[in-house]
Amino acid sequence: MPAGHAGRRWNVVHLHNFSVDQCLKCSTCNTVCPVYAVNEKYPGPKFLGPETARLKKSKPVAHAAADYCTGCRQCELVCPNGVPITHLAQEAKNWGKKQKGIPLRDWILGHNQWVSSLASRVAPLTNLVLGLKLVRRLGERTLGLKNRPFPTYHRPFSFRHKGVRNAERKVAFFTGCYGRYNGTGVAQSVVSVLEKCGVEVVVPPQKCCGVPMLSNGLIEEAKNNAVFNLKVLHELVEQGFQVVTSCPSCALSLKHDYALHFNLPQAAQVAAHVYDISEFLWHHGLLQEQELKPLKKRFFYHQPCHTKAQGMGSPAKDLLSLIPELELAVREQKCCGQAGTYGFKKEKYDTSWAIASPLFQDVAACRVEGIVTECGMCSLQLAHGTGKNVFHPMEILDQSLKG
Ligand code: SF4
Ligand code: SF4
Repeated sequence: MPAGHAGRRWNVVHLHNFSVDQCLKCSTCNTVCPVYAVNEKYPGPKFLGPETARLKKSKPVAHAAADYCTGCRQCELVCPNGVPITHLAQEAKNWGKKQKGIPLRDWILGHNQWVSSLASRVAPLTNLVLGLKLVRRLGERTLGLKNRPFPTYHRPFSFRHKGVRNAERKVAFFTGCYGRYNGTGVAQSVVSVLEKCGVEVVVPPQKCCGVPMLSNGLIEEAKNNAVFNLKVLHELVEQGFQVVTSCPSCALSLKHDYALHFNLPQAAQVAAHVYDISEFLWHHGLLQEQELKPLKKRFFYHQPCHTKAQGMGSPAKDLLSLIPELELAVREQKCCGQAGTYGFKKEKYDTSWAIASPLFQDVAACRVEGIVTECGMCSLQLAHGTGKNVFHPMEILDQSLKG
């Protein structure tokens, strides 16, 4: 196994080397921004990124619309000159929050780990309460949380070591909050697939990756979590572990954001050992067609924006294509509009829904029995908009994988 895999993905842009003159004003970023496409008040990535940064040279600039950036990174993916647009838009967003203060709702959504930890301890009750129309209406009126479906909570994922020890390949599984409190079946499938492939798995102590905090202006808290996660993961990397995660946003934080936003000393070394779970299996050739049982089903595959942003191709689709008799309907990949906590916010819900509508139409046109996607929040939005069951690729692979 390679000691690391730096260089097989995008270049991390170091902000201290960045000059606003890097922006060529080509507007390519605006053409792919899902918010710019549906919300006429949104000035777009070119303005919120490099142009606002240029104005900021004399004094910080806040723009109310910056709060409408979903952080999807599609602008950065297409920029021909490596402008760190999302980071610049995030700075404009942070400055606005600093001036106005962080609303209670955003503070709650940002502290997703605390909330989920409490909610999952009394999971049946939480799900019952969150399902009550009266509670949802109250949440909308008092907090500004949209009256819409919320994630289902389960008892926290608990890992018991049953597989191989001292294997040639060993991984630390970063479950993320979704895998730990909501998608516990996904976390179980990840462990099951890895163990069937003869990989040793450990699940280290971990804190929320920080994406919900960053999205809601809680920068210091996000940095504290990054410091904790890097310390734990760095020790494991030194012992020869690779890091895998089943959540695209966690993967992006660990691979990219800890180095970009916080400039922490261990960030680059850890990042070189982080894999999306499908990327890990595909990259190391751990699954072969003959090990997979036929699955006579037809699914729609949705690639989350944060999976695309990792610049690693479509390893989940590649793996699923190995399953005999499984049909995958794949269309042009579109944003689902949920963007973590964004789609729960009352004032952003219409934008979120407008972004998602073409994707919902694609699913309806494909006549599938379910949807496969890597992201827990995309799953929630897709189930909400299409009424279909949504699965993580590892759940499907686990069903098909013999052993
Ligand atoms: S794509 Fe890049 S270079 Fe072109 S306008 Fe946007 S930020 Fe500037
Ligand atoms: S991150 Fe996404 S929503 Fe934000 S400016 Fe870029 S493309 Fe638009």
